[in-house]
Amino acid sequence: MSQHGAAPGRQDAGEDKQLSREEQDAILNLQQGLLAAIARGDEPQALIARLCLLQEQLVPGAVASAMRLNAESDTLQVLAAPSIPDEAQARLHNLRPGPGAGSCGNAVFRGEPVFVSNTFSDPRWADLRAVAVDFNICACWSMPIHGAGGRVIGSFALSSFEHRAPGVFHRRLLEIGAHLIGILLERQAQDTQLRLAARLFDTSEEGIVITDAQNRIQAVNPAFSRTTGYTADECIGRRPSMLSSGRHDKAFYLRLWTELVRNGHWQGEIWNRRKNGEIYPEWLVLSAIRDNTGQITQHVGIFSDLTEYHASQNRIRFLATHDVLTELPNRMLLEERCGQVIAWARKAGHRVALLFVDVDNLKLVNDSLGHTAGDTLLQSVAQRLRHCVGEKDLVCRQGGDEFIVLLDELPGLEAATSVAQRINDHLGAPYHTDSGELVTSVSIGIAMYPDDGDDFNALLRKADGAMYQAKEAGRNTFRSHHLDADPDALDELVIRNGLRPALARGEFALHYQPILCLRTGRPLGAEALLRWTHPTLGDVRPDRFIPVAELSGHIVSIGEWVLREACRAAAAWPLGDLQVAVNLSPLQFRHGALERCIAEALSASGLDGRRLELEITETTLMGDTASLIEQLSRLKAMGVRLAVDDFGTGYSCLAYLRRLPVDKLKIDRAFVADMSEDADDASIVRAIIQMAEGLGVRTTAEGVENAHQHATLEALGCAEVQGYYYARPMPADDFVRWLAGRVVTPPALT
Ligand code: C2E
Ligand code: MG
Ligand code: MG
Repeated sequence: MSQHGAAPGRQDAGEDKQLSREEQDAILNLQQGLLAAIARGDEPQALIARLCLLQEQLVPGAVASAMRLNAESDTLQVLAAPSIPDEAQARLHNLRPGPGAGSCGNAVFRGEPVFVSNTFSDPRWADLRAVAVDFNICACWSMPIHGAGGRVIGSFALSSFEHRAPGVFHRRLLEIGAHLIGILLERQAQDTQLRLAARLFDTSEEGIVITDAQNRIQAVNPAFSRTTGYTADECIGRRPSMLSSGRHDKAFYLRLWTELVRNGHWQGEIWNRRKNGEIYPEWLVLSAIRDNTGQITQHVGIFSDLTEYHASQNRIRFLATHDVLTELPNRMLLEERCGQVIAWARKAGHRVALLFVDVDNLKLVNDSLGHTAGDTLLQSVAQRLRHCVGEKDLVCRQGGDEFIVLLDELPGLEAATSVAQRINDHLGAPYHTDSGELVTSVSIGIAMYPDDGDDFNALLRKADGAMYQAKEAGRNTFRSHHLDADPDALDELVIRNGLRPALARGEFALHYQPILCLRTGRPLGAEALLRWTHPTLGDVRPDRFIPVAELSGHIVSIGEWVLREACRAAAAWPLGDLQVAVNLSPLQFRHGALERCIAEALSASGLDGRRLELEITETTLMGDTASLIEQLSRLKAMGVRLAVDDFGTGYSCLAYLRRLPVDKLKIDRAFVADMSEDADDASIVRAIIQMAEGLGVRTTAEGVENAHQHATLEALGCAEVQGYYYARPMPADDFVRWLAGRVVTPPALT
């Protein structure tokens, strides 16, 4: 290296001299030495220090140093200065570039090489003069280091212990030094950036997927695996379509790709499918990465899972449209729905009902048990209300103790009232709460579209008004303007709705009206007559409710109860051979279970079949004769007696009466009642009695109210009588007492 020792001396003489062979070799050696170190993978910091030492070997009497610009603080820091004492380094630390900041401060400040041959006098060393003197730095040549994009990122300097200017060789060394350090620093920055990117990739909350030009997955990050459920191994090499949910059509993906290729990026919400099959929304940002020639080499997709965002959006939407306490829709939602439902009803021609439901004694509960108890009650009320209506119907809490029910697609008012009745029934049952058992009831006002109005507000006003009427009527009931015009119609509905629960609630009872032998006055038996005490209507006459029960089909189960109850009562009568007559509805015949039911009633009570008489109306007999005759014959085989009730009022085909196994005709009380005035009626009664005699069938006259009728019937030869003249229908116990008051000889059973 000694030959280079002379070089600076030579350079002093002429600056534009070419480099000598030795100098060129020296520079090549320097570069090779450094490249070898780079290839070894030495740290940039160590490489720069090594560069400094190599340069110092080529420039005797000089020391090399590298400084880096901290762009944020705009100060220079010593990067490497292996031969400069620490105290000197300390004094150069945090040097701010400027016109008096020495060679390096100036090189960075100006962005050009600065060669100071006399640091003791040069104004560019004004700020560092003391350092120059203290450490005997006589000359200093500095070269700016450029980074990516030509930015100045530091300086490389050779400081000489003698006053001198740099020669071509020195400048070349400085250029090479600055250039190499620039590359090293830039690479270090890139490394840092790559490491940063890798770290971001690994720790990002966002899922990241990288695909190649053919859109095959090259890499996915841990967040991707967390969200999708697929590990990197499971997706690398596959296409991102492995995640597709099927929710988007081809056109959607086509638009996405077109935009990605055209603009280099796409972003939007997309639904994908996790490994476990769950479909979820994500916000996806896609970028296309191109090489120098503009070819797409990769795609990067970054996404965040929107599931929770959606859930919270949904929650916000829910809270805006629902009541917080009961989670029922609020009035806003109801009003909107009501509008839609009415619009549809107008087209489809059906009815819609709005039920205004007011909890009757919420205030009492609040005042006596506190608001928590009141809240619990409201929640239970809400729950029960929901159970009372169909899926299409809407239950909303209007506020306080008021609920509104919207019933859709109704055939008529009746359907609404039966829901109202159901609500009254269900909401009136006790509530088991932490505060103990609570009882409440609701008052309901009904308004119908189109009968009461054709928009939400009109209907609500009507329903509200009707609700007040329900309150006035004693609460726990329902009212409607429409119904109130016709109280009978209301009763009919109340009857219909009340029949279903009546049996279970024990609202029925049987009364017994004696049937007597006209000649002797002996009781032969009694007719069981059904009585119903309705909770609000009170006693309802059979004429009123039996046709309704027949229409609704309830008569079948009610009739079965009557049979069981009548047989049970008759079996306990003190006179062991009295007959009990039970009225049957035509519907019971058409319902297959009649025979079984009679057999069960007889065996359960132990009553002899011969003591049971079934009263059949003429309408029953008009049915399918062949099967009816069979049915009646089977009943007869059980010993049971058969009577035709209300005979003469219907269409009686005398011809087939002959073929029916009938034991008795009951002459309708209309004929008996009119016998006194109307000679025709007396003749009808006479004709019936004669015909019955001809058929070998007994007769009972119904509705005998006075002695005159009694005498006439006696004269006509009627065998049996029944009517107020002898006894009214009476409760079971009264009948037993009535019997006990009679001294009778039981008639022989035929
Ligand atoms: P029905 O079978 O003709 O019963 C006789 C009806 O005449 C009874 O009326 C009875 O109270 C009434 N009656 C009896 N004597 C007199 C009288 O002297 N004057 C007047 N004005 N009426 C008298 P009720 O109890 O109101 O029963 C009416 C109808 O209801 C019965 O007529 C019967 O068709 C039906 N019915 C009663 N109970 C049942 C039952 O358990 N099942 C079925 N399917 N129908 C029943
Ligand atoms: Mg009868
Ligand atoms: Mg009758």
